[in-house]
Amino acid sequence: MARIFGDADADLSLLDGRTVALIGYGNQGRSQALNLRDSGVKVIVGNRGDAFLEQATMDRFDPYPIEEAAARGDVVMVLLPDEIHHEVLPASVFPNLNVGSAMVFAHGYSVHFREVEVPAGHDVCLVAPKMVGPGVRELFLRGRGFPSLVAVHRNDSGHAWDTTLAVAKGIGSLRASAWETTFEEEAITDLFSEQVGGSGAIVGVLRSFETLVKAGYDPDVVQLELLGSGELVEVIRAQLRRGLIGSLSVHSPTSHFGQLYRAQELVEETDSARLEQIVKELQDGTFAELWRKEREQGYRTMQQLEERFSSHEYGEAERRNRERLGGLEDGQATLVERATEGTRAAEATVAKGDEAS
Ligand code: NDP
Repeated sequence: MARIFGDADADLSLLDGRTVALIGYGNQGRSQALNLRDSGVKVIVGNRGDAFLEQATMDRFDPYPIEEAAARGDVVMVLLPDEIHHEVLPASVFPNLNVGSAMVFAHGYSVHFREVEVPAGHDVCLVAPKMVGPGVRELFLRGRGFPSLVAVHRNDSGHAWDTTLAVAKGIGSLRASAWETTFEEEAITDLFSEQVGGSGAIVGVLRSFETLVKAGYDPDVVQLELLGSGELVEVIRAQLRRGLIGSLSVHSPTSHFGQLYRAQELVEETDSARLEQIVKELQDGTFAELWRKEREQGYRTMQQLEERFSSHEYGEAERRNRERLGGLEDGQATLVERATEGTRAAEATVAKGDEAS
């Protein structure tokens, strides 16, 4: 069983008098930098010059070029997209590292798949939030935490775990706990969850859509039923609160029975051998190699696949329904989402009342 760490397991004062340099000020970088600064840590930001640099300046950081930030950091946190680590780190970060500084990654990918090799003499740590960037900041501001996975790949100083946990505490994760893992385990399970869970959702929706439309049902009604109404958000929220099977009790008895009955049928038909093959392809580096070639070839396959799936008839029904629900612009909340936001706000008020009473 993994060790689980909470706030009491970490000593933030270990970062006193040390400079934490965050390289990258995007999704995770901005949230983690702000949280660390609010936790009393001395934070500097390294970013090349453009929109993200402007954001860092607006947030009252005085951003440095990446090379200089790396040189000033006692702890250097890598918050750049994983697919550019092999270009940026050897060129701008590794040659400038302070003697004995520790490096902290937010995902195990580039280290585990040996896309980068951190020079000897530097601890190599992992603090991987299991939360999107804006959530990292929002939960911190609400006094809540978010789970993360933590690991030490190399402990040259003998204090790598102390540094890892201090960083996890500083970004606010330990309020919700951190689970011990390895770079390998974090990378493989994260990829598997994206590639099987995420693609499973795409396949499930498209196959169901095709089947129901072929059976003569209206594409717009089918899209609304499958995804468009936003009811699924509530289903997932219930699963988180009551458990995967426990949440079925909030559905009607017909739905409760129907879901269990079909789950039993479909679980038996699921090809476990294919899933095991996917794990193998992740473990033996087949996927990492495929993804490396894809990047070198200018993301050709990715574009082709995106075009193929985007031209599916489902997309048309989705566009019509999103327009009706008032959320066609990318990223804009539909009416349904706005309604569930209202539900959440009401729930939060009730929960606050519960805590207070
Ligand atoms: P983003 O895509 O949001 O990072 C953008 C940052 O990277 C910006 O500061 C950008 O600076 C910089 N950047 C991009 N390209 C380059 C380049 N060629 N040279 C120098 N700087 C560059 O990344 P995320 O925050 O999504 O991910 C960061 C790390 O966090 C990754 O390891 C990821 O796996 C991990 N992570 C991400 C999660 C998420 O929710 N997104 C969740 C948990 C972990 P600019 O363009 O201004 O130069």
